[in-house]
Amino acid sequence: MEEDVEEDVVDLAANSLLNKLIRQSLVESSHRVEVLQKDPSSPLYSVKTFEELRLKEELLKGIYAMGFNRPSKIQEMALPMMLAHPPQNLIAQSQSGTGKTAAFVLAMLSRVNTLELFPQCLCLAPTYELALQTGRVVERMGKFCVDVQVMYAIRGNRIPRGTDVTKQIIIGTPGTVLDWCFKRKLIDLTKIRVFVLDEADVMIDTQGFSDQSIRIQRALPLECQMLLFSATFEESVWQFAERIIPDPNVIKLRKEELTLNNIRQYYVLCESRKDKYQALCNIYGGITIGQAIIFCQTRRNAKWLTVEMMQDGHQVSLLSGELTVDQRASIIQRFRDGKEKVLITTNVCARGIDVKQVTIVVNFDLPVNQAEEPDYETYLHRIGRTGRFGKKGLAFNMIEVDKLPLLMKIQDHFNSSIKQLDPEDMDEIE
Ligand code: ADP
Repeated sequence: MEEDVEEDVVDLAANSLLNKLIRQSLVESSHRVEVLQKDPSSPLYSVKTFEELRLKEELLKGIYAMGFNRPSKIQEMALPMMLAHPPQNLIAQSQSGTGKTAAFVLAMLSRVNTLELFPQCLCLAPTYELALQTGRVVERMGKFCVDVQVMYAIRGNRIPRGTDVTKQIIIGTPGTVLDWCFKRKLIDLTKIRVFVLDEADVMIDTQGFSDQSIRIQRALPLECQMLLFSATFEESVWQFAERIIPDPNVIKLRKEELTLNNIRQYYVLCESRKDKYQALCNIYGGITIGQAIIFCQTRRNAKWLTVEMMQDGHQVSLLSGELTVDQRASIIQRFRDGKEKVLITTNVCARGIDVKQVTIVVNFDLPVNQAEEPDYETYLHRIGRTGRFGKKGLAFNMIEVDKLPLLMKIQDHFNSSIKQLDPEDMDEIE
């Protein structure tokens, strides 16, 4: 029983933050951007350079100071729409790391009138930390826009009643923004020109946030530009987006599919946990390992394995859900920098966090759902690579005999072969 309690659940907001903390560059995509225009007969503009956007000099300087040379794939299409006159509404979906935040920050900065000292742009984010991250981007990109200022409408930021808020860009969580607008009257929503709803998929995942966002949106003036961003687009996100963004243009960039094509998969039959560990050591000793990630189903197993490996003199680090997001980010960063060779983790790490140089993935436990059926999606996320950008890899599954039927189901599901391996004889691998 206790084992179940220890299992780490995937926290969307924490994962999103983690990705932001770790990410240093754009995520590539081989797909084409799909565009659905509100008015299909109007010409469709795309830009290949930032100069074409005719931005304020100081804003362009900020963009180049961030090291951006040219617009990302999604920005090529989104920026002309966002900066058009009259302003156009936009719903944009693309996976994290494709340049959405940079795009709407640019839009907000370009629309601020620095001579006016009141809130003009409002951005809603799902958590305090995500709001701060977006604020940092505003500060970096707006470094040379000296008269533009940001303020955070987040819990704990206490503003005395009657304060005259003079900052032009407000970033906050729905609850606090609602409070500042309606109860405390710190923000006059009728003067907002740009409304951004970021991370819509994370937002609707949080109780109450959709309704609060809609209440805020309803009080905005008709001419306010409304922009919504999401990394994923399930039906529920889509319904919410359509409720909250009137007459939108829609931009989508499909996610790079994961495949198992470039991955050689093996399994080792084991009797017990100790046995699995022994097999792992044999594999570890038998092949030259670049970097490896080892997945366990529970925190307890992950901890046990970490201790065992350390006692045997291996240099490993443990990434678990008990750590704060900052701690997790720094462990992942060290691993990416090659400071650690082996990373042991539970499912928290399986989603969205790509460590490209990893050549070996070990399932110390198979991913299963609560019904004790194979969790195919998690298996794919742990082991799969994107066809075009991924490297070849090796995957090992440590299987107790009674789990063999689960493995066979996985094999059938993906229609890809998982070969049995004798841990005493590693020659089979190469
Ligand atoms: P998203 O909001 O889709 O997750 P971000 O806007 O945060 O994506 O961008 C992801 C990373 O790429 C960030 O590190 C950001 O600084 C960088 N980035 C964004 N746009 C560009 C660009 N045009 N050129 C180079 N890097 C960019």
